Amino acid sequence: MCGIIGYTGSRKAKKILLDGLASLEYRGYDSAGIALCDADGALRTIKCGGRVSELASKANAIDFDANRGIGHTRWATHGGPTEANAHPHASKRCVIVHNGIIDNCLELRDELSAQGYTFVSDTDTEAAAHLIDREYAALGDPAKALYSAARYLCGSYAIAVIFPERSGEIWAIRRDNPLIAATSADGAFLASDIPALLAHTRMIYRPKENEVICITEAGITKHNTDGTVEAIVPEETELGVTAADKDGYDHFMLKEIHEQPDAIRRAASHRINSDMLPDFSTDGISEEFWHSFDSISIIACGSATHAGLVGRYVIEKLAGVPVTVNTASEYRYDPPAILGKTLALAISQSGETADTLAGLRLAKSQGHPTAAIINAVGSAIAREADCVIYTGAGPEIAVATTKGYATQVAVLCMMGIKLGVARGTLAADEAARLCRSLSRDIPAYVSEIIGRRDEIRKLAVAVKDADDLYFIGRGPDCPAATECSLKLKEISYVHSEAYAAGELKHGTLSLVEEGTPVVALANDSRYFDKMAGNIREVRARGGYVTLICTDDFPHPTEYGDSIFVLPKTEPLFSPLVSVAACQILSYEIALLRGCDVDHPRNLAKSVTVE
Ligand code: GLU
Repeated sequence: MCGIIGYTGSRKAKKILLDGLASLEYRGYDSAGIALCDADGALRTIKCGGRVSELASKANAIDFDANRGIGHTRWATHGGPTEANAHPHASKRCVIVHNGIIDNCLELRDELSAQGYTFVSDTDTEAAAHLIDREYAALGDPAKALYSAARYLCGSYAIAVIFPERSGEIWAIRRDNPLIAATSADGAFLASDIPALLAHTRMIYRPKENEVICITEAGITKHNTDGTVEAIVPEETELGVTAADKDGYDHFMLKEIHEQPDAIRRAASHRINSDMLPDFSTDGISEEFWHSFDSISIIACGSATHAGLVGRYVIEKLAGVPVTVNTASEYRYDPPAILGKTLALAISQSGETADTLAGLRLAKSQGHPTAAIINAVGSAIAREADCVIYTGAGPEIAVATTKGYATQVAVLCMMGIKLGVARGTLAADEAARLCRSLSRDIPAYVSEIIGRRDEIRKLAVAVKDADDLYFIGRGPDCPAATECSLKLKEISYVHSEAYAAGELKHGTLSLVEEGTPVVALANDSRYFDKMAGNIREVRARGGYVTLICTDDFPHPTEYGDSIFVLPKTEPLFSPLVSVAACQILSYEIALLRGCDVDHPRNLAKSVTVE
């Protein structure tokens, strides 16, 4: 959520900062700004209440550049997305950018105002700027000032600071928010995420929680609380520069949908041994692990919760292990009562989701064994869970997740197969059949569907003007519907809800009238009769049914106003296929409605605030 960039070195900073912010746009933001500071300490701050392109026009019209600067894209938590609230925020002796929330900002504002500091914005960040200034004035040393300020700050933060009088230096500290540092031949960088740096360097350092670092043209130093200073040797990241490119696609979302078949294949095959049986040894997970709990509590937010719902279905069916799926923002304060030994399983693409991290910490503090399904290597949740299963989806830039979700589902399906084998509820030949289906058939089917975009566009044209749209399904189509609905809401702003098809008549059917679009998912032949009945109920009220069903659904033309036929899949894994079709449906509807697909309003990629 939001983006931080910093540069100091032999090159001019303005363009580096603006390009860096543009490559962090995917994280979601509502305003932006940069501060440039030259070798004599002259400081120039340029901000705007809009997009990075507006900031760039404004900054490029100003005849000032310097070899050191910090930049920020803000996702407002305290105060509207105005120019005054945009970062950087300056105090007397420093200027800062901040990602996160200072929970005790009101107390700090009162205290600092009483001490003579004047506030010009509504942000919590400005309190941090004045606090750092006060500590710096008192202690005369940036590292001491930052450690001391951190003691007063409640909440979460990644902060980059320039003290103009300290030539060439940019200082940083983080807690529960991402921030990385990097070096190159002509300077050093700070950034919220790797894509902002790939054009310059792949030599990355990840500061630990509450560690003060300083970057200069010469590199990165770590400043310990005892006053000692260590030179940091960054490590080369494996990510290539193309990871942050659209690769010829119109949107990152479309690129990532296309990467999905391969991502699912990798996530599954990585955990299948030569006997075609599930094997998590490359994740460093021992056989004992699979016998070490009686139930699983999934902790997640958004699409990761929906992946968890598919996971629950698969794990309970294949292994009989009870699974609850918990919304992290609730779980962190009100964890459910549990019986026996429960594995707390956090799911997060970024590995930085604040609520999920807090939920994981709570579970740990209560003595539960913990595991995490994560995409971003080395992220906070990955570091704190007892064991980590990486989805290996690669960088996901579009705010609305596609391959990130799909790989979470693939990993959960593999966990279900593994648990079934380990606990004797699944025979080896059946496990091998499922492994083959997940690693070979499903990626091929997803690929086929992606190739039928023109057909899906026609479905989209028929419903594009709807104000409300409902998704219904039974069995595995039920958790799939939740994700289809969220995808549509996120990128097209069409109101949408997902229902178990049998539930519609218990209330929501009252909203179905002439022309109301209902997308019916029917991928499990066990429920075809029942789905047919539920679809009839919708059509009897004039509802417009888009039927997305497998090729064995009987007489589809009698049920669907528009029909999209999917290949017959293993029903347990069918959400991977039907959701892919609905991702494209949502994408097409969003395009037809003129929406900014990669940057949906009000949303951020990595939700690092509570
Ligand atoms: N809480 C800060 C603000 O509202 C920073 C938000 C962010 O992470 O962008 O200004």
